[in-house]
Amino acid sequence: MLVGAHVSVAAGYPRAVEYAESVGCEAIQIFAKSPQQWHAAPTSQEVAAAFRDRRAHSSVTFACTHTAYLINLGSEDDALWERSWRALADELTRASLLGVEATVTHTGTNRSRDLEAGARRIAEGIDRALEAAPDGVLLLENTAGAGTTFGTGPEELGAVLGMLDERWRERLGVCLDSCHAHAAGWDLSTPVGWDAFTAGLERCCGAGRIRVVHANDSTFGVGEHRDRHAWVGDGSIGLTGFAAMFGERRLADASAIVEMSGEAPVKDETNVSRLKALRAASEVRG
Ligand SMILES: [Zn+2]
Ligand SMILES: [Zn+2]
Repeated sequence: MLVGAHVSVAAGYPRAVEYAESVGCEAIQIFAKSPQQWHAAPTSQEVAAAFRDRRAHSSVTFACTHTAYLINLGSEDDALWERSWRALADELTRASLLGVEATVTHTGTNRSRDLEAGARRIAEGIDRALEAAPDGVLLLENTAGAGTTFGTGPEELGAVLGMLDERWRERLGVCLDSCHAHAAGWDLSTPVGWDAFTAGLERCCGAGRIRVVHANDSTFGVGEHRDRHAWVGDGSIGLTGFAAMFGERRLADASAIVEMSGEAPVKDETNVSRLKALRAASEVRG
């Protein structure tokens, strides 16, 4: 597994790569535009080219974007739903220009609480976005299962993927957020929990779909449905839990990326180096 962090692009895209290298990242996640707003100026060709060029000469092997938090592909409101799939298509277009390997998104809400109906609505939105955007790989992220959020576990993500046309197969995958899975009830402090969750993803979504792991520890306990990220080893997943992650063979080709609050660069240096130490000591389970 490659290891890295979500890094800020506030000082510019090429500078984000420099920062990532300085804190030891082999993989990064960035925002392609402000995550709290619908609109943003188009990504400039020059900025994108500078980012791609800087990356080509860096230690950052894998890069992905994360979509805006406003996107809700499960909304029952037709106007918001359309705005959401168009925003998703825009995110994929920006990601393509930046030359990143994938785009991570949350799916949205499901107020009906009917799995089939919720998955259908979301799949339709994704289908339109993939049709509208020229290329780009989209990864659906699991959630902590708070309120009416869709995508809590393998069954929900798999239901969406299963409804999408086979021709999109190469453009779809999964992002596993460890804090969210733990909060949703899979105990990731143990190898058994990692095995159960990743086996579920393989069964419901297909083999080889997990491209990114948001390697966040959890402030709250297993099954509490509360999403608050803790530094690696400081939460209820703990160092033994993340050691188990590196032992999970289904994650061997995924990149582990931390999304932490705290002071930069200490938060990223610390979490990336903790993960690297665990990786160095790990052995993949057969
Ligand atoms: Zn996310
Ligand atoms: Zn989270």
